Amino acid sequence: MLRQYELVEKVRSYDPDADEAMINRAYVFSMQKHGTQIRASGDPYFSHPIEVAGILTDLHLDDETIVTAILHDTIEDTVATPEEIERHFGGNVARLVDGVTKLSRIEAQSESQRAAENLRKFLLAMSGDIRVLLVKLADRLHNMRTLHFIKSEEKRRRIARETMDIYAPLAERIGMYEFMTEMQTLAFREVEPDAYASIARRLEQLHKGGGEKMIDRIARGLKAHLEANGVEAEVQGREKHPYSIWRKMAERHVSFEQLSDVMAFRAIVPSVDQCYRTLGLIHQRWPVVPGRFKDFISTPKRNGYQSLHTTVIHDEQMRIEIQIRTADMHARAEHGLAAHWAYKEGAAEAAAQHPWISDLVEILEHAASAEELLEHTRMAMYQDRIFAFTPKGELIQLPKGATPIDFAYAVHTDLGDQTVGSKINGRVMPLRTPLENGDQVEILVSKAQHPQPGWLSFVVTGKARAKIRRFVKSKEREETIALGRKIFDEIVQRLPQPLGWEAMAEALKRLHFHDDAALMEAIAMKRVSDVAVMEALLPGSTGSEGVKPPPQRTAISIKGLTPGVAFQLAECCHPIPGDRIVGLRREGEEIEVHTIGCDTLANGEDADWVDLAWGDESDGGTARLCVVIRNEPGSLAAIAGILGSHGANIVSMEQASRDGSFHTFHLDIEVHDVQHLMRILAALRATEVVASAERL
Ligand code: MN
Repeated sequence: MLRQYELVEKVRSYDPDADEAMINRAYVFSMQKHGTQIRASGDPYFSHPIEVAGILTDLHLDDETIVTAILHDTIEDTVATPEEIERHFGGNVARLVDGVTKLSRIEAQSESQRAAENLRKFLLAMSGDIRVLLVKLADRLHNMRTLHFIKSEEKRRRIARETMDIYAPLAERIGMYEFMTEMQTLAFREVEPDAYASIARRLEQLHKGGGEKMIDRIARGLKAHLEANGVEAEVQGREKHPYSIWRKMAERHVSFEQLSDVMAFRAIVPSVDQCYRTLGLIHQRWPVVPGRFKDFISTPKRNGYQSLHTTVIHDEQMRIEIQIRTADMHARAEHGLAAHWAYKEGAAEAAAQHPWISDLVEILEHAASAEELLEHTRMAMYQDRIFAFTPKGELIQLPKGATPIDFAYAVHTDLGDQTVGSKINGRVMPLRTPLENGDQVEILVSKAQHPQPGWLSFVVTGKARAKIRRFVKSKEREETIALGRKIFDEIVQRLPQPLGWEAMAEALKRLHFHDDAALMEAIAMKRVSDVAVMEALLPGSTGSEGVKPPPQRTAISIKGLTPGVAFQLAECCHPIPGDRIVGLRREGEEIEVHTIGCDTLANGEDADWVDLAWGDESDGGTARLCVVIRNEPGSLAAIAGILGSHGANIVSMEQASRDGSFHTFHLDIEVHDVQHLMRILAALRATEVVASAERL
């Protein structure tokens, strides 16, 4: 384990201004908090955060990052609190430690599932500061180095898989190839022990044959060739690591012997000019393998990687891969973004001032191809996304502003359709609540529930919107047809004589309707008049003596009340005949009649409930509507016209809200009963200027 003074020395070697006292405080704080906790290796737990800090000093990271690494497990695994950390180490460190703690919790939550791509994106989105991610990656790397101490094979494999699927690709994404390679090698050994052993054995055989290793011999030859032609180069030779060899064997279906690039060489030269000169010298000396040359200097990779790559056939028919780059390019290739900062003036400043995304974008501005730019846009896009969990820990990706309804539809259409409520992080919350990153969302359902038109005012995903719209449309048509059928029955009653069995078919033909549903819809929406329907059913009937007048409805009466008891229709819900109703009776007061769905009932504990029903001859009531109409001349007149033609008096009208293209009105109108109201609503909805019409 690194000693306290060794750690401080390491940081000061690359950053003389580092806050030595803060690092010392963190060291002592972490040691005290972790106390006697023990790792699977038998070492004191405290050795782990110190080693993680050590890994990060290799990347020359700033003092705040190092302190964060030392403290990274104190919140989750000890009694330390965020307030304590802020008091001792300041707001920046507290924020960073909080970030790492959150990532660890997410990791624990989603242990059971394999939505690796989603989890990677989520970790990116959550690490608002790249330093959080760097600490997390170093944490994982150290855990991988000590993986073999864990006794349970199942647990070792799970951790290795997760590292392979999530953390190694993340490291690659931000250009930390050393982290990536080591994680992959360690994970590969755990997940595919047989394949690992066989490749390791082959690699060893390659080195046999006495004296100098083949790899060193080739490297020495390369260096000599370049020097003889005036280029000072540092040449390194390395074997591909077992995991990448194995992956190539699997991808290309080739054996180890057929694999061309088991060995790779790197020439590090002083300038970009010399990179190209080196390339020329190598191509002159050895035959080039066609199709393997790549120029990542003029066209860097999206993460900023620069190098020339080529493959040549070396003496003894051995294919070798050669990368050519400058020292600066090399540092960036090895340490990715971390090096990018370290090489800038003052790593800490750069890290603190630029959120990591913008830093990445800066690098990406050099991306040349459309595809690379697209990749980078995709990265930036994570900022507009949120990630929420199902109770089972599955990750659901949604746009910012998404609500539990959007969440439910994203999981499954049926779940969305049946939503009646939601719990966010265990608390019941309104369905219109915007979700936040990391929320756990439980959807409460009922088989009796259907999509509600009101949801359209707050959902943000296209899927939810489309599903709700489709349902509401079909529901409205059903209601309209049912209403038309009722009116049709009334019309039939008014005819002077009963109809023959063929009358309906005849009527459809005369009125040019394909089926009776279409006719009922037309009747409800007043596209065909009562008189026209009567004539079609029984030609000549409207002129005859026997036709009866439309049914008359008389005053309001309510069943279930002792005659003479005073009642009033509640102002809050405006019940009209046909509504299901309930009475609230309080001492010395008139009985209040409410609709069964009225919110007031929930607060009516101090009153007796009285079961009520409308009398057969009930007629008349005031219904309150919410109508959204287009903001254009004549809209209001059109509404008034429809209400007039349906015999509905407007009692009052007020503008509830307006935006550019739509106005919302609250209307009180006098209607006979629910059927009458339904006809009016249907007619309103059928009007072009009306965006929506609902009873309030
Ligand atoms: Mn840890």
